[in-house]
Amino acid sequence: MTQDYEDLLDRGMDEVPDDASGSERFELPVVDTRKEGSRTVVTNFGDIAETINRQEDRLCKYLMDELGASGRVESGEMVINGELRRGEIQSRLKQFAEDYVFCPECESPDTEVLKEKGVEILKCQACGARNPI
Ligand SMILES: [Zn+2]
Repeated sequence: MTQDYEDLLDRGMDEVPDDASGSERFELPVVDTRKEGSRTVVTNFGDIAETINRQEDRLCKYLMDELGASGRVESGEMVINGELRRGEIQSRLKQFAEDYVFCPECESPDTEVLKEKGVEILKCQACGARNPI
């Protein structure tokens, strides 16, 4: 093994984030859309809901409220009445993830929403934190 190669390895190690030994870094899915007349269809909606481990209906309702639009889920796609920009939907999705998916303590996406005495709690599977939503 040459010295150069070892230098390369050292540099490589420096660039690896501290939490690399744990789970892979979570990436929020990117919204894919297509236009259908005056409607906007999120074609990978089912995948998005699955990736962030939330119910399609719930995510749909949140996005509609935030976007001030109406729409519904149709076999894995979300059909929005109105023409919306992809970036607009993406930023609402990001907001949803920050509010309802990522643990505020450790930022793990491995969480679930529980309902206790009418209050919704975000429970983290990674660190065990419980935070009201
Ligand atoms: Zn946590």
